[in-house]
Amino acid sequence: MSSELKFDESTLRGVVEDVLRSLGQTSSTAVPSKPEADCACAATPLSVSVDQGKHGVFQTAGEAAQAASVAFSELRKLGVAGRDKVVNIVKTMTYDKAEEWGKLELAETKIGRLDHKIAKLLGLRNVPGTEWLSPYGMSGDHGISMEEYTPFGVIGAITPVTHSIPTLSGNIINMVAAGNTLVINAHPNGARCAAVAVREFNQAIEREIGIPNIVTIVETPSLDSFNELCGSEDVNLLCVTGGPGVVNAAMKSGKRSICAGPGNPPVLVDETANLDKAAEGIIFGGSFDNNLLCIGEKEIFVVDTIYNKFIEALKKAGAAQLNSSQLDRLTQAAFTDSKDAGGCSHPVLNRDLVGRDPSVLADIAGASIAAGTELLFAETDADHPFVFEEQMMPMVPVVRVKDVQEGIERSLVAEHGYKHSAMIHSLNVENMTKMLQALDCTLFVKNGACLAGLGTGGEGYSSFSIATTTGEGITTPKTFTRTRRCVLVDSLRSF
Ligand code: NAD
Repeated sequence: MSSELKFDESTLRGVVEDVLRSLGQTSSTAVPSKPEADCACAATPLSVSVDQGKHGVFQTAGEAAQAASVAFSELRKLGVAGRDKVVNIVKTMTYDKAEEWGKLELAETKIGRLDHKIAKLLGLRNVPGTEWLSPYGMSGDHGISMEEYTPFGVIGAITPVTHSIPTLSGNIINMVAAGNTLVINAHPNGARCAAVAVREFNQAIEREIGIPNIVTIVETPSLDSFNELCGSEDVNLLCVTGGPGVVNAAMKSGKRSICAGPGNPPVLVDETANLDKAAEGIIFGGSFDNNLLCIGEKEIFVVDTIYNKFIEALKKAGAAQLNSSQLDRLTQAAFTDSKDAGGCSHPVLNRDLVGRDPSVLADIAGASIAAGTELLFAETDADHPFVFEEQMMPMVPVVRVKDVQEGIERSLVAEHGYKHSAMIHSLNVENMTKMLQALDCTLFVKNGACLAGLGTGGEGYSSFSIATTTGEGITTPKTFTRTRRCVLVDSLRSF
């Protein structure tokens, strides 16, 4: 059976031409620093064959889960060596195809930045594999015991539009290293590029280890296919990476779920901070992929005594400031007012502006900014929608606070208790400790950009699923295992 993936013609032609052109270039010139102009859709669709039912792409969640279940039984027979081969294929392919797949994802989702889409795929080399699963051994008078890690089986992975191919690739590395197979329900707006990656992974994996469907995907994902995975006996565990809606749905599903949920990371800059370094870190993290990262700097609290100097440092480092009427215009476009059941009004995010370029946001605001500006900022109150909502735009609000204590309290409120990520720029260890203890986030970065928390500019491994809601933390292969104890009793001793 064969089915089709549809891209609009001009977008796909642009992608193909760019890839072909870059093949003739050196790697340093092949990666443009910014995506081309906004990828507006033309009317005529162009088709990419996906060979429905082959190489892991399935029409229904039930078929996809069943195929992954058969693959799980086969994978077990190959032991750790078989898993290593799969991990190696995924790491190598995401590295080699980073540019091609980055372009494909940007063309489909139309959010974020090409250079950073490519960087995310290149960074998958930093996701841990089977080496993470060292067993825990005990020995004593009564013999020896070993606690070791065993797979769940088939994992249903729900992936976000913000990092479609990176999340599914990172999930494959972690989950297959642990001995599982996967069935993926991608975000509908990033499902085409996800299906292309799954198909190509499977082709390479089957060639290498002779097993099809180690990773499967629902070609046209929907709430129905999500529900089907939740109810499927072939699915042993869910791993959800997304916002509050899907996390709540998974938690209510009755299926055990590992949930990498939403964040709204605050940054606190205190009077001891190196302000130039703080400004550079905030611009790097807050502008990365146009602020699509769940760990990305979303709102900045700055202590009064250094506030003006910090604003100057931000401008000097290249961020562009919106004045209050420009901020008002952008706010009106970015949020609509909605009334809840009790009649209270609250802002609702306009998803059309998520992940858009600073130049697009500046146009809406009526501001003119220098070409290449990576981040916009504006001075706001602490209760502004840009502070409270997880807005995922390269526009960060900056809020003046009288001291560190107020900054920590405001950060706590803005973070909504997600316990996701937070940053501080400070040389005062007490202030660092107070903020760490008050927010108790899964990721807490001191004096660096958010990305340092995932190994870029800091130490540590990487993952695209940070299990905040259910508490497993930055996911590793161990997250996707059961623990079993194997006991050998000393037969020479009597009871
Ligand atoms: P989203 O919640 O709109 O979608 C995520 C996934 O859930 C998609 O596959 C979508 O189709 C599905 N989905 C959404 N609502 C659903 C529902 N009610 N029932 C079943 N499935 C549903 O999020 P997004 O825009 O794709 O991604 C951005 C969000 O994800 C942000 O909130 C961000 O913080 C979060 N995120 C978290 C992490 C993490 O590691 N903690 C990583 C990336 C993104």
